[in-house]
Amino acid sequence: MKTLIEGGWVVAYNGRSHEVHERGSVVVEADKILHAGGPYAGAVDVTISARGKLVSPGFINTHVHTAGGGGDYLLLDMAKNDYRTANYMSFAAPLKGRMSPPPADAVAALRAFVFLHALKNGTTTVIDVGGLRGDWEGYARLVDDLGVRVYASPPFRDRETYMDARGRLTYEEDAAVGQARLREAVDFVRKYDGSAQGRLRGMLNAAQVETCSEPLLRAGKDAARELNVPIHTHAGGNLVEFQRIMEEYRKTPVQFLADIGFLDERTLLGHVVFTTAHGWPRYPFGDDLRVLAQSGATVGHCPYKYAKMAMTLQSFQRYLEAGVNLAIGTDTYPMDIVAELRWASILAKVTDANYQVGLPRDVFNAATLGGCKFLARTDLGRLAPGAKADLLLINLDHLGAPVYADPIKALVDGASGRDVDTVMVDGKVLVQGGRTTRVNEDEVYAKARQATEQYWSHVDGWRWDGATVDRIVPPAFPMRRPA
Ligand SMILES: [Zn+2]
Repeated sequence: MKTLIEGGWVVAYNGRSHEVHERGSVVVEADKILHAGGPYAGAVDVTISARGKLVSPGFINTHVHTAGGGGDYLLLDMAKNDYRTANYMSFAAPLKGRMSPPPADAVAALRAFVFLHALKNGTTTVIDVGGLRGDWEGYARLVDDLGVRVYASPPFRDRETYMDARGRLTYEEDAAVGQARLREAVDFVRKYDGSAQGRLRGMLNAAQVETCSEPLLRAGKDAARELNVPIHTHAGGNLVEFQRIMEEYRKTPVQFLADIGFLDERTLLGHVVFTTAHGWPRYPFGDDLRVLAQSGATVGHCPYKYAKMAMTLQSFQRYLEAGVNLAIGTDTYPMDIVAELRWASILAKVTDANYQVGLPRDVFNAATLGGCKFLARTDLGRLAPGAKADLLLINLDHLGAPVYADPIKALVDGASGRDVDTVMVDGKVLVQGGRTTRVNEDEVYAKARQATEQYWSHVDGWRWDGATVDRIVPPAFPMRRPA
């Protein structure tokens, strides 16, 4: 069956770069693109009108945690008073023995919510860099049911993080646990890579550069090479991590990872905000951007999450010009990859105090082609004959697109995930008119809400200071809740 999408602005790939065809057309047959660009003269079975819409390749979201938003909420900006509460330590360093894993139904509910939320906001390929553990059969079934494309495996580390009763961050190393977790990840890849009709693919996730020992990082990269899959770790994500790596190895996180052979074209690094190029570490020795560029590794830039924490790359443009491969991710909520384009663009301009940087072209490339390099996929992130039919119809007309000469500028300047009207993955329409075609949305939201409220209600039990959610992140106005 051939489906013709016509009448919109089509972002087609010409083999070297994206180009936009006004009143262009895309033809999809089975799971692939048959034609993308100008008019199509052949016979088709179904026609979809894209009038007033951008027909865009689906975005590659390089930073998704399939864990729900309970923890994300705790790292919100407003009430932070030191670096130990300004990053993942705010929800991943409990008092020892006081945090219990969520029940299986909560895990399933939160995973479903994350996939649905990301998909509806324009993500067609989810890079799951670590979520809740367990029930991997259910995970694979969910990917199959929802129709989304996912790269995943359970994250591994051999240093657990805790706070003591005085709020001091401690790391406890257990090499055997790390090895067991790595084996679990390798087993996951062996078992599930290629399942869900080829949409669930394997990758490895070394949790964070400072929560994995050097032997574990080396073993993880060796395993990724053997399995021929990409590997991710969080690096340069916060100053606590930067300083710990400096103390342990006398090197920046980037230089350390390069020196142990962790960085190459199949490596994705989450964030990489704190480098020799950033002002906060005040570490003017070496050139991390050159090291990154030479390694071929990809930086998964999550602009909005960092902006909320009063930080950003220094800068998107400087990384780009140094030759670093940049990709875009959302990390925390909202998982709105469309809005991330604007954040990436604007933050680059503000950081460099320069109008002429953070160009729409460059942020769009990062969210499409840039995310494909470490995946070694030339059939994603682009609309071209033979590529996977992963695409979006994004409604631009109501954004005032008629006043824009260029729909990509309209997209970056004004669009959000809520303008995503249609999402297609592998040639199947998963979202139509902004609503999922696969599951009962309201049910997914209700279950996720319940699981999150359950999580919030237990926070004071594992927090070192016994604080409740409202104390950690005070509401904007006093909240009056029904008794
Ligand atoms: Zn992350």
